[in-house]
Amino acid sequence: MKKIQVITLFPEMFDGVLNTSMLWKAQQEKAAAFELVNLREFGIGPRQQVDDTPYGGGDGMLLKPEPLFAAVKHAKEQDPTAKVVLMTPRGQRWKQALAKDWSEASHGYIFICGRYEGYDERIVSLVDEQVSVGDYVLTGGELPAMTIIDSIVRLLPGVLGGEQSAEIESFSDGETLEFPQYTKPAEFEGMKVPDVLLSGHHAEIEKWRAEHSIKAD
Ligand code: SAM
Repeated sequence: MKKIQVITLFPEMFDGVLNTSMLWKAQQEKAAAFELVNLREFGIGPRQQVDDTPYGGGDGMLLKPEPLFAAVKHAKEQDPTAKVVLMTPRGQRWKQALAKDWSEASHGYIFICGRYEGYDERIVSLVDEQVSVGDYVLTGGELPAMTIIDSIVRLLPGVLGGEQSAEIESFSDGETLEFPQYTKPAEFEGMKVPDVLLSGHHAEIEKWRAEHSIKAD
């Protein structure tokens, strides 16, 4: 079973995503187990402070090191071999090949979600991987973490319905985008499904699909 822990100030953001569709099924099938670690619980003082102003000046607040270190320590105690992953625009760009590798890894993962203007850089000393979901800035690491978790967990054995579905979908070979697909009705508002797909001729259908797959940039 793949154990995935997420360190976040907003655990409630994960409720719908982790308890719906494939991620819900993964838990039912005991392919994955999720644990949300509320960073606030590791905050300092009566106000459970987790952020502070940046040295050197500048706008916004940064996540303080002490609560982050304590939360990672707690998560590591639950799963000592887990790899620690920091969500950051500075990280390596996430892609399907990484989702496949990480789904096949025998260890679990601890995702750290940054917030505000980011985090005290010293947290990087505890981190095994830094990952970005793309060249844009989101408000926090929660949406990136959900994206990455979804892409990993749906590839765990027993989660997707058809065993083939992960092998023939976009990026499964690292570069090919899936062919267009159609369902019933065969004609809708004057738009017809290509005849070949209705022909029942398996070889011709495969040829059409190969011709209509495209290479990603
Ligand atoms: N000040 C930071 C900068 O300019 O790079 C942006 C901070 S962002 C508002 C807050 C947090 O959201 C980040 O620390 C990171 O954890 C997460 N985040 C934002 N965009 C991301 C991305 N493209 N990939 C991964 N994490 C991201």
